[in-house]
Amino acid sequence: MGWKKKPCAKRKTEKLQASENNMTDVNCIFCKIIAGQIPSRKVYEDDEIFAFHDINPWAPVHFLIIPKLHIASVAHATPEHEGLLGRMMLLAPKLAFQEGARPYPDGGFRLVTNTGAEGGQEVHHMHWHVMGGPRPWLRG
Ligand code: 5GP
Ligand code: ZN
Repeated sequence: MGWKKKPCAKRKTEKLQASENNMTDVNCIFCKIIAGQIPSRKVYEDDEIFAFHDINPWAPVHFLIIPKLHIASVAHATPEHEGLLGRMMLLAPKLAFQEGARPYPDGGFRLVTNTGAEGGQEVHHMHWHVMGGPRPWLRG
């Protein structure tokens, strides 16, 4: 008697939305792409993730997966982003094969997130390059 189940604590996997958290950067080109202020060739969109073709592809299949939240790099991700990172990771093979990468194991793709100046990062909104298709590629 008198015992009541406590309301669930917020789950780590709960979705964070850029609009709710005001986590966009007005000077960021990828935030502008998400907002449609800069055109892009969209591959995928949901309430927290956006994917689009790289403007300067290194490989026959080359697109970027980004969070709608402005997270500067994977080095800035925190435990609250765990679910988001997992969902981005699971999208990579799904979208890679949808966009023309041949099946594993003969085909496949590369997943890269350049981080910081020495990591070769030029755009400081975390993005994951997904590259695939027959070699040779321009880079990598
Ligand atoms: P990073 O060197 O930071 O890992 O990669 C940034 C990537 O973003 C580059 O491959 C570059 O071609 C791509 N990129 C930069 N500006 C734009 C843009 O305005 N539109 C698209 N679609 N890709 C861009
Ligand atoms: Zn941004």
